[in-house]
Amino acid sequence: MVPVPVRTHTVAVAYVTCPGCQVPQMVGDDLVSYQCFTCYMDVRFHTCPYCALPQSVLARWRSYTCGRCQRKVDRPHRESYPESTKAMRSEGVGYPYPKL
Ligand SMILES: [Zn+2]
Ligand SMILES: [Zn+2]
Repeated sequence: MVPVPVRTHTVAVAYVTCPGCQVPQMVGDDLVSYQCFTCYMDVRFHTCPYCALPQSVLARWRSYTCGRCQRKVDRPHRESYPESTKAMRSEGVGYPYPKL
């Protein structure tokens, strides 16, 4: 059997930067969370309510510092799937709060 070549151009992916280790990686663009391939942290996506920047944040962060407007953002305790920010929309990376 000849392996079928992976047709990457048909796979929709997003490039996101892990907020834990700052390593850029490729994930499926409709994911709402993923585990970093490098540091194994759970990464989620959240849209800043102040400047509307969709960004990647660590799942364990209850609050984070927005990567663009630098404001403190509180994440809701539960996010329903349709409201979750997806990887394809992620344009930035959040920082821990307080920012180190
Ligand atoms: Zn990482
Ligand atoms: Zn912001």
